[in-house]
Amino acid sequence: MAKIGKAILLIGDGLGDRPVAELGGKTPLEAAETPNLDRIALEGENGLLDPIAPGIPPGSDTGHLALLGYHPYEVYTGRGPFEALGIGMEVRPGDVCFRCNFSTVTDEPARLPEPACSLAGQGPGLVVTDRRAGRISEGTKELAQALNGVVIEGVTCLVKESVEHRAALILRGEGLGHNVTDVDPHEDGKPVLESRGLDERSRKTAQVLNEFVRRSFKVLSAHPVNAKRRELGEPEANILLPRGAGLAPHLKPFSDLHGFAAAFVVEVGLVKGIGRYIGAEVVDAPGATGGHDTDELALARAAAKALERQAFVLCNLKAPDLGGHDRNPSLKIRDIEKLDRLAGELLRLVPEDALIVVTGDHSTPVSVGDHTGDPLPIVFHGPAVRRDGVKAFGERAAGSGGMGRLSGSDLMNLIANFMGAKGKFGA
Ligand code: ZN
Ligand code: ZN
Repeated sequence: MAKIGKAILLIGDGLGDRPVAELGGKTPLEAAETPNLDRIALEGENGLLDPIAPGIPPGSDTGHLALLGYHPYEVYTGRGPFEALGIGMEVRPGDVCFRCNFSTVTDEPARLPEPACSLAGQGPGLVVTDRRAGRISEGTKELAQALNGVVIEGVTCLVKESVEHRAALILRGEGLGHNVTDVDPHEDGKPVLESRGLDERSRKTAQVLNEFVRRSFKVLSAHPVNAKRRELGEPEANILLPRGAGLAPHLKPFSDLHGFAAAFVVEVGLVKGIGRYIGAEVVDAPGATGGHDTDELALARAAAKALERQAFVLCNLKAPDLGGHDRNPSLKIRDIEKLDRLAGELLRLVPEDALIVVTGDHSTPVSVGDHTGDPLPIVFHGPAVRRDGVKAFGERAAGSGGMGRLSGSDLMNLIANFMGAKGKFGA
C-alpha cells in the first residue's frame, strides 16, 4: 500500500443547534461569522452526521466513542469508567467504576423518617441530609486519600476526588459484575440504600460496595477535615455514595482498529481519558482551558505539531457546548467563532495534502440547554475530496451536500479511505 496520508478531525463540542427566534430563525452556527469554516465547506464535500443513530442524544463520551469507531451500545455500560478516566484515574478493563458524591448522612434515630430499610448491619439506618455535603469545595482530596486503597474481600477500592462534592470509585478484583443497584437514594431525607447484585457476578460487587460505604462512613466521620467542618457549622462530608456503576470495557487500541496511530489534542478530561484508554498520544496544549476563554490558536498549533508525529489527530474545542448548556445564543456564536479561528489556523499550518474534517460530537441547542439527537453538519476537505455545491458551513447547507447523511460508525472508514489506509475488501 502507498504511504498513508494525514488527517485531522476537528470537533466543535456540542456544535449542532436548532433555529433560534432571536437570530431570525438561524442556528448559532448559521448566524456566526465563520469565513474559514465557510471556505472549508465551499472547497469540500458536506453532509449531515448522526454520531450514534438518528434521534439519539449522545454524551460526550458515547459521541466520541462512536466517531472513533467503537460501538457505544457494545462497549458502554455506564458513566462510571469514563468519569474515572476523566479525572485522570488509571482504569483497567474489568474494573467496576462508579461516580460518587461526598454526602452528609445522620445516624440519629430521631431524624429517621420511618424504620428505614437501610444499609444492613449498621444498627440504626443512615439518612441522607445533604447529597452534596454543602457543595464541599475543600478537603475532598484528603478525604479521598483516607479511603483510597482499602481492600475488601480481596477487592481493591480506589478513590479519587473530582470537582466540589464529586468523586469516582473503582473496584478492582477478579470476576466482578457491574449489575448492581445504587446505594445513593438520589434524594435528601431518604435512607442510604443497600446495593443488590442483579446477577451472579454482581452479587460480590454489591457486597464489597456495601461494606465500602459502611467503612467510608466510619473513616470519614473520624477524619480531621470533618472535625473542622463540625466546628465551622458546615455539613460534614461523612460518607461516599456511589452510583452509576459501569464495567470498564476491553477496547481494541485505536491503532489496531484502524491501522494508524492517533494523537488527541483536547480540553476536557473525559475525552483525554478516552484517548489514553485507546492508546492515543494525549497532548496538553498550553492555554487550553476548556472554557470560553480558551486559547484556540494554541490548540491549533498543538494539533498541527502532533500531526507531524501521528497520521491522525483529533482536536476538540469544548466551548460551543458550554454556550449551548448556558442557553446563550450570543455566547455560543462567540464560541463557534473561536472554532472558526482554530480551523483557519489549521488551514495555515497543516500540509496542503492533509485531510481536514470538521463536525461535532452532538448537538447542544441553546433552546434546550442540553444534548439532543439532531444531526450535525460535517465537512471533508482535502485534495482527494470531491467538491460539492455547498457554499457555507451550517446545519441546513450541509444537508444538501454530496456526503448525504452519515452515521458515526462510517466516519473513520471514510477518513481512512481518504488517507489511503483502507485495504481492499475482496479480490
Ligand atoms: Zn460533547
Ligand atoms: Zn455538554
